[in-house]
Amino acid sequence: LYPSHGDNSEDLVRHADLAMYQAKLAGRNTYRMYEPAMTDELTRQLLLESDLRLALEREELAVHFQPILEVASGRLAGAEALLRWYHPQRGAVAPSEFLPLAEETGLIRDIGAWVLEQVCRTLEQWRGIGLDLPVAINLSSAQVLRGMSVDALKGVLERYRLAPQALVFEIAEDVLLADGPHIRQWLENIRQLGIRLDLDDFGTGYSSLSCLKRFPIDRVKIDLSFVRDMVQDSNDRSLVEAILALSRILQLEVVAEGVETREQFDLLRDLGCGYAQGFLFSPPVSATEFVGVARRLGALPD
Ligand code: C2E
Ligand code: MG
Ligand code: MG
Repeated sequence: LYPSHGDNSEDLVRHADLAMYQAKLAGRNTYRMYEPAMTDELTRQLLLESDLRLALEREELAVHFQPILEVASGRLAGAEALLRWYHPQRGAVAPSEFLPLAEETGLIRDIGAWVLEQVCRTLEQWRGIGLDLPVAINLSSAQVLRGMSVDALKGVLERYRLAPQALVFEIAEDVLLADGPHIRQWLENIRQLGIRLDLDDFGTGYSSLSCLKRFPIDRVKIDLSFVRDMVQDSNDRSLVEAILALSRILQLEVVAEGVETREQFDLLRDLGCGYAQGFLFSPPVSATEFVGVARRLGALPD
């Protein structure tokens, strides 16, 4: 906008470009108006991007694990792998900050392969001490779209002598929205291999209900925003109930994310939700710390 965003064509185009860059980072299909702060933001992003390239080599990335419990029994039923980046100067950088960058730059491929390798290695170690649990790995649409190859997956599983049932892939609704035959085929191949599929952050995206039927999904994860307020807010509670009812009809399992309080847990149990995950049981912790958590939850002898 002339003249508020610049008083010459060069500045205007450069600032428009910055705004476009931000819109892309926000996941595309959206718009941003230029703001002066974007210039600083871009510098920060560019620095972060070059650091992220080095992060893998410098071993600054780590995979943490958060327990998933069976609600009825309180039994430890699995874990979700969550990526962490410990930047030497910035400290812990949140996945929401660096994953969009990783996707934009294609780095997500190497990072995703590394996460898979770490998870399999951890599963092998845990199995050695008698801890046998499925672990869920998050896949972003960029990873699915560029197709992590099914053969490569088989190779990794074989190398660690793991059954495909040891892994779950969590995909978000935007993956289903892309809905090419290519994606459905990939998901079907994964499912056929024996790796289960969870639909993450359910209720926040734009996927239609028919997606749940058309794709080979095993489980939906109710987004933590609904769980957070379900005790106080009857709308959120109704939404959770609706998701549970729908899942029952479609014979899908349900995990409630972000369970922080006893009240939430009790309500979920009363509503018949199958699985729960959240700070109430444990935050995401390192593979070593997770062994202690498993012990506390009764999945391993003291
Ligand atoms: P997500 O898969 O929906 O993961 C759940 C997020 O909720 C995690 O945030 C987790 O730390 C957080 N959380 C768990 N319990 C609670 C709770 O009780 N209360 C609250 N407020 N939050 C809770 P995190 O670790 O920051 O991860 C954010 C997102 O980044 C994940 O959302 C996932 O979409 C993505 N992500 C994480 N690791 C990976 C990865 O290895 N690959 C890919 N492609 N994406 C990843
Ligand atoms: Mg997830
Ligand atoms: Mg989620």
